[in-house]
Amino acid sequence: MKSRAAVFHGAGQPLEVREIDLDEPGPRDVLVRMAAVGICGTELHSIRGEWVRPTPSVLGHEGAGVVEAVGDAVTSVKPGDEVVLSWAPSCGDCADCRRGRPAACINLHRAIGNGTLVDGTTGMTLEGETLYRGTATGCLQELITVTERVALPLGGGVTLEEAALLGCAAMTGVGAVLFAARTEPGEVVLVIGAGGVGQFCVQGARIAGAEVIVVVDPLEARLELASELGATHTTDPDGLKALMKEVAPDGADRALDVVGNPETSALALRFTRSGGTCVIVGIPATGERLDLDFGEFNRREKFLTGTMYGSEDPAVALPILLDHLRAGRLRLRELLGQIFPLEQVNEAIERSLAGEPGRMLVLPGA
Ligand SMILES: [Zn+2]
Ligand SMILES: [Zn+2]
Repeated sequence: MKSRAAVFHGAGQPLEVREIDLDEPGPRDVLVRMAAVGICGTELHSIRGEWVRPTPSVLGHEGAGVVEAVGDAVTSVKPGDEVVLSWAPSCGDCADCRRGRPAACINLHRAIGNGTLVDGTTGMTLEGETLYRGTATGCLQELITVTERVALPLGGGVTLEEAALLGCAAMTGVGAVLFAARTEPGEVVLVIGAGGVGQFCVQGARIAGAEVIVVVDPLEARLELASELGATHTTDPDGLKALMKEVAPDGADRALDVVGNPETSALALRFTRSGGTCVIVGIPATGERLDLDFGEFNRREKFLTGTMYGSEDPAVALPILLDHLRAGRLRLRELLGQIFPLEQVNEAIERSLAGEPGRMLVLPGA
């Protein structure tokens, strides 16, 4: 089978749109025609060369589309169904999978590092050579084969452009606040970094009933969007200390570092109240380390944790997000940025690298 894909050859090189070959779907596979794919911040790590993964590869792990065909053993979806892809095609068998955390699956993370699916294959070739999969997915292409478990039915009521965001940014950001930080009504939530995922953290905090939602970002346009989506207070990094002194002098009940570097994580932990929870949401470049003060833990009894893909099984979290969406509590449209056909994928990436507000979307079928 043929597909048209944006092929990544390595950092500093533009993606190249090529015709590629796909293996025939197996009995438990689903063939999906991709309608919309978001350019996620973690893609940019590969593009900037901060992560080194096998190439050539097809990037893209946040997308929605329509089921084209299914294997004989597939029961959860049928041709014509609209689906969003989960990027956690986990093994289903390890300790993390058994406790309902497929995104923490050891075999998934090995596969992501190797640019493959969990079974070590990729199911895609370019001129007879192996074509690797970004984030065990690789959906920046027209057609993709995935296992049944990760083609999650949408059930209507959401456009496929909006639904793409459910596949990574919304799941990650809302989940970080609800399932990792376990935010309670009336609490103070601090969100550091108001890119795509950060804006969903803001919405998660509003959905959880937080009373004070403080958002920090150097870009004014992002702060304005955060205010529309539920932030009660916003500031640039220089103003954070004074603002926290004014609105939450004891610190935040829940502080989220959505940037994911040593400085922003230290900042989030510092502004977490005694006994409060600090969650690292953003993913750092390979090799980064944290330098921690013992006093934050022994004297001040803070909790520090991280989250991957919203800390819930995507198959469990998606219906929760869809409920919030249909009730008008979760807003996706405001998060959409510009839309590009597959041929202009490099422009979408450049806009993302520039930090322009809104998720850049690529429509592989356009
Ligand atoms: Zn992502
Ligand atoms: Zn597993």
